[in-house]
Amino acid sequence: MESTPTYSLVAYLIAAVLFIIGLMRMGNPKTARTGNICAATGMFIAIVITLLLKEVLNYTMILIGIVIGGIIGGVVARTVKMTQMPQMVGIYNGFGGGGSLLIALAEFFRYVSQGQSMTLENSVTIVLTVLIGSITLSGSMIAFGKLQGLVSSRPITYPLQNIWNGIIFLAVLAMMIYLIAVPGNAAIMVALVAVTLVLGVLLVIPIGGADMPVVISLLNSYSGIAGAAAGFVLGNMFLIISGALVGAAGFILTRIMCKAMNRSLGNVMFGAFGAVVQTAGAGAAGEKSVREATPEDVGMLLGYAKSVIFVPGYGLATSQAQHLVAELAGILEEKGTDVKYAVHPVAGRMPGHMNVLLAEANVPYDKLFDLDEINNDFERTDVAVVVGANDVVNPDARNMTDSPLYGMPILNVDRAKSAIVIKRSLSPGFAGVDNPLFYMDKTMMFFRDGKQAFVEILEEIKNM
Ligand code: NAP
Repeated sequence: MESTPTYSLVAYLIAAVLFIIGLMRMGNPKTARTGNICAATGMFIAIVITLLLKEVLNYTMILIGIVIGGIIGGVVARTVKMTQMPQMVGIYNGFGGGGSLLIALAEFFRYVSQGQSMTLENSVTIVLTVLIGSITLSGSMIAFGKLQGLVSSRPITYPLQNIWNGIIFLAVLAMMIYLIAVPGNAAIMVALVAVTLVLGVLLVIPIGGADMPVVISLLNSYSGIAGAAAGFVLGNMFLIISGALVGAAGFILTRIMCKAMNRSLGNVMFGAFGAVVQTAGAGAAGEKSVREATPEDVGMLLGYAKSVIFVPGYGLATSQAQHLVAELAGILEEKGTDVKYAVHPVAGRMPGHMNVLLAEANVPYDKLFDLDEINNDFERTDVAVVVGANDVVNPDARNMTDSPLYGMPILNVDRAKSAIVIKRSLSPGFAGVDNPLFYMDKTMMFFRDGKQAFVEILEEIKNM
């Protein structure tokens, strides 16, 4: 650290401040774009300053890396679909963890090959970086595989799973202590890398595909911690600061997601959610009757409504109906209808999923309302239109203590004067449970793919 020139420390500080401003601005959709530019500028400054340091020995390899990485990143960012965003973030986390792992290994083998002795600080930071980096790398690859359909998204469980994982973790701990006490044993280091990679896989396979966004957010936090640990290995202040920021931000996001789902992190990580409850609601649906709507029914109801709240959910993302929803909302507003959108914090499959989709369709931000802001409006609203949402409007969450949703705050669609639910069938959503909203007298079920439903509704409304 002593040899780091002052100009680079000042530049790192500026970059860190830009990161913090960027993070703050990303908290609001209106300022998120400039927040992203701020953070990217901070990263650019940090990269340029690091490259100017005398420690860099081989610019050609770095340039090749930048070109290859830049092309892959650019192509992927342009072609990936919004619904594939969680797995894209997942794979990036994995590469972040893998990068930190390689830094720690490079430092370790440099010490070994040069026959230098390691200080306690060196060996502790190296083994910690190896532990967190490997778990992040292999865990993220499994999370990516589950969301991409390459690995079964069902929780993979077997007897005494947590106990086996505990035993493996103890073995990892023993190897880490050995490498700190007797630094420089290459065979034990290789074994540590292998076992921690296996541990990353074993920790993620029992988690259901639908819980993967939470896992990815947690792994994002790990990748930040691994980056900060690698910063200690290299004595690089910027890596420590940026890693700590990512670690903290990822952890806060994980907590927010768990809280909004009314689940503990322990339940997400070790509860094998989705393995048992998946069938719970499916049977119950067959015995009750629903009011099935035609396009004319829906058109009529919406055409005469004075106030409408759209409630988007995961089905909006899969059907990509956001542009048609926005078009319908525009027509209704021209007729004098008061139109709002109610956005549940965990609607869809990643934080801010609905906000991003609606922003893509140019829905003005001031029409989007959080759960707390809008929930009291439902009882004064003529029609609530649920677009591919299910769990986030399930009234059982309020009082069915045995429901997996119990305690999760929900949007009060069942308290609107009437409700239209657009989905393809009575199939349950992510939590795997039936939804009493579908069987209420005030509810009309419009069984369609989201996009197709709005094509038909728009045709009706335009002909009215
Ligand atoms: P949901 O409860 O998963 O329900 C989505 C509904 O969309 C399904 O019932 C499905 O019914 C319907 N659907 C799927 N494809 C469709 C299409 N093409 N057209 C029309 N409908 C379609 O979704 P949600 O209400 O948004 O709730 C989100 C759930 O995910 C919550 O349980 C939450 O805890 C969980 N979760 C969220 C996050 C996050 O960060 N947002 C992270 C992890 C977990 P059909 O099959 O009948 O069409």
